This record gives sequence, C-alpha cells and structure tokens, in this order.
Amino acid sequence: MTRITFEKQAQDGKARRGVIRTTRGDIQTPAFMPVGTAATVKAMMPESVAATGADILLGNTYHLMLRPTAERVAALGGLHKFMNWSGPILTDSGGFQVMSLAGLRKLTEKGVTFKSHIDGSKHEITPERSMEIQALLGSDIVMCFDECPALPADRDRIASSMELSMRWAQRSKDAFGDRPGHALFGIQQGGLEEDLRAQSAQALREIEFDGYAVGGLAVGEGQEAMFGCLDFAPDQLPENKPRYLMGVGKPDDIVGAVARGIDMMDCVLPSRSGRTGQVFTRHGVLNIKNARHQDDPRPLDENCSCPACRNYSRAYLHHVFRSQEIISSMLLTWHNLHYYQDIMSGMREAIASGTFAAWQSDFHSGRAQGDIDPL
Ligand SMILES: [Zn+2]
Repeated sequence: MTRITFEKQAQDGKARRGVIRTTRGDIQTPAFMPVGTAATVKAMMPESVAATGADILLGNTYHLMLRPTAERVAALGGLHKFMNWSGPILTDSGGFQVMSLAGLRKLTEKGVTFKSHIDGSKHEITPERSMEIQALLGSDIVMCFDECPALPADRDRIASSMELSMRWAQRSKDAFGDRPGHALFGIQQGGLEEDLRAQSAQALREIEFDGYAVGGLAVGEGQEAMFGCLDFAPDQLPENKPRYLMGVGKPDDIVGAVARGIDMMDCVLPSRSGRTGQVFTRHGVLNIKNARHQDDPRPLDENCSCPACRNYSRAYLHHVFRSQEIISSMLLTWHNLHYYQDIMSGMREAIASGTFAAWQSDFHSGRAQGDIDPL
C-alpha cells in the first residue's frame, strides 16, 4: 500500500487548491467532511452523502468506542464495511468529546478516565489506546490524542495543556508506528496565543506528521478571535502537508478559514441544522418552520440542484417539518450538505483560476441579501 500524499495544485493569496491521495480515493481540497458521529451521517444514506460531493467522512472515536465498540466494528470488517462507506474516513481522537460529553473526567499525564454519557460505565483513553481504537476502526486519517481547554482560559492553563498535548503527540506517533496507507495528523494547540501556537507547531514538525490540524478553536472564542488566530496559526505549519481546522463551522467561517490557508474542515452544523429546520442557502439562513413558507410553491433555492430543491416546494418542506415527518430531516440535511459542498467546489474552482477574491465578494454579497421576499 502506498502512502497518503498531498499535492498542492494552485494557490491564490493564502488559499490553497490541492488533492489528498488515499488508497480509498482522492480528496479534493479545500474539503468539507460531513460528520458521521455514530457510523452514520444522520438522516442520510452513504450514497446520498457521496452524491452531495463529499469525498471523505469524519467518524467519532468517543461515540464508536462506547457503542458499538471498536472491537465489534473491527470484528465486523472495519468501519467502512460496517457503515457501507467506501471512501476515506478520518476519525478524531476522542479527546475533544471526552471533554465535552463524558462525566466525571480525570486527566493525568497518562490519559483521561471518564464515565460514559450513555450508561455511566468507566473508560480510559490514552494516546496509545486512541491509536488502537482508530486502527480497529480502520480509519484512513488518524488524529493524535490531545487535550484542550474551552476558551477563554488563562495563559498558564493553555500553555500546560498544549505542552501535555505535545507529549501525547509523540506518544501517539510512537504507538501509531508504520502503517502504509494510513495517515497520522498532529494537532496544534496554544489557544489564541501566537507564541504558544508557534511552539506547538515546532514540536509537531520535529515529530513529523502526514498532516497538521489547527485544534482548540471553535470552542467559544467567536469568529473574530478565531480568524485572528488563523491569520498566523496555519502559516506556522508545514507548507507541503494538509492543514485541517477541526469543528468548523458556519459557511462564512469555512470561507474565511480557506482564505487563511486551511485545506480541510468538518462540522455537524449542516446535518444538525437539517434536523432542526435551519436551512443554509446562498442567500443566507432561513427557518423552514416559519409560517411564511406554508403556501410557497418555490424551492429553497432555485439554483440548487439537490433533490430537496429540484422536487419539493417550501410549502411541502414546511408541512413535513411541522408534521415531524422523517423525510423532513432527510431532505433538509441533503440540501444543507449539498450547499456546503457547492461552496467547497466553488472555492476550489476560484482558487485554481486565481479569482478567489471575486468569488468571496459574490459569496458575501449573496448571503447579505437575505432570503427571497415572501410571496
Ligand atoms: Zn437544495
């Protein structure tokens, strides 16, 4: 098996157009990864997710280790076979969700012990165990086990957490070993502090990874602070490897991150919003439950080619949402994921043709217009 490689094909300003080649297929970058938390992108068949244009999915180590367990997934042939997704899969390390979901956490140099949010059972994740779980799942892109505080946090806490994460990054690399066909990404920490981010980047460069994530953002700091950090954080990472911004975000967060040199992102927002009736279009955000849609025969977006827009009216989507019909989540999730992938392909073309600034200005003016007027 060959190595996972990254080829940068074009650059416009700081924005990069490239391709990550894996044994399970190419990932065109900038890439948005839909989140398949529990071995499913909720409300979507895998072939539907692929039809939106997604090249890669994200799976959550924390959720899968608790249920159905990594050992069970491995015995059943691995995550790709288990969930019927043949493309690449990136798994997170479990660290972030232990911090955000699990109960009674105890953090030591060795790792984290915690109680499951499902049944209260006790578990431990260490860098070594995280590598083992992600190998059992059969993940193509494995993330280092790390730890990060919610922001705002004081500088000492951010520094000591970053230093711990860098020791864990070395342990993750040692435990990962040599696995051709699988990639290991390091995770930069350091909060919003430029010097701590630089120290973290340097530590990761010395360990050497197949790709690098900017971690510890989108944890409550707000877009302005996040962009402020992204003005320097990606530049500190190696130029010739993919850069992944974890857990981001809203459409304008994604565009702003790509403009600052990010190649990959993931977020539950488009799929979760699809289940709560929040719809993203090139004219901003609309809420399908509003009464203004109940007699409206027009699609969500007349320019969108997704099934929700091609075949259904706002009136129908309003009706099935209000009636809590399952097809509501299916169609709105499909539309939102399709819209996100449209943004990504639009950015890829614009970067390749050197027109990314004009593309961004169209994107922002379209969204500033707001939804079409009611009938
Ligand atoms: Zn649509």
